[in-house]
Amino acid sequence: MNKKLETIRQNVIECTKCELSKTRIKSVPGKGNFQSNVIFVGEAPGKNEDENGEPFIGIAGKKLSIALEEAGISREDVYITNIVKCRPPKNRIPNTIERSTCQEYLKKEISIIKPKIICILGNTAFNSLLGGSEIIKFRGKLVRKDDQLYFLTIHPAATIYNQELIRVLKSDIVKLFHLITELKNNKEVQIDIDYSS
Ligand code: SF4
Repeated sequence: MNKKLETIRQNVIECTKCELSKTRIKSVPGKGNFQSNVIFVGEAPGKNEDENGEPFIGIAGKKLSIALEEAGISREDVYITNIVKCRPPKNRIPNTIERSTCQEYLKKEISIIKPKIICILGNTAFNSLLGGSEIIKFRGKLVRKDDQLYFLTIHPAATIYNQELIRVLKSDIVKLFHLITELKNNKEVQIDIDYSS
C-alpha cells in the first residue's frame, strides 16, 4: 500500500474526532487500488463494515461488486471509501458536524490517489461533495467542479429491493468506465453539469 494512504488508514483507525467514535465497533478506512482512476464515495459504514473495519462488504457492497463485474472491472482495481469512516447509530444519515469533521480524510485520499473521476454513490455523498440533492434526477451525469470530475449514481443500497435500480446502477457503472477509457485516451468527454463556469 501507498505509505501516505497507510498513514491515513492508521489515523482513521485511531480517530476520536467526532461523536461516532463513541458508538462504532471499528472505524472503516478507504480500501483499494491507490493507482485507481476512480474513487467510489458512499455515505457511511453499515453493520457489517462496522464489525469488520472494511468498506462495502455487506449486501450493498455485493451489489456494487456485481455492477463492477458486469463492466469488466474487479473490486481490486478501484478505491472505495465513504464520506464518514465510522458507522452512525442505527445507520442514520451522518450529520453535518460528523461529515465536516471527517472530510479531511477524504480530501487526503483524493489528493494522494488523484482519480480521473470521483464516483458519487447516493444522496449523502452528492450533498456533501457537491451540495446536491435528489440524485435519482441527476444520476448518470458527469460533473466538473474545481478541475475535478465527478460521476453521479445511486447508492448500491437503493438497489437491494429494487430490480429496476440494479439495472440503473449497472448501466451507470458501464458509462463511468467508458468515460474513464475516453479520458485515458485523451479524448474529450461531455460535461453535463459544470460548477466551474
Ligand atoms: S467518523 Fe471520521 S472524524 Fe468521526 S471518529 Fe470516525 S474517522 Fe474520526
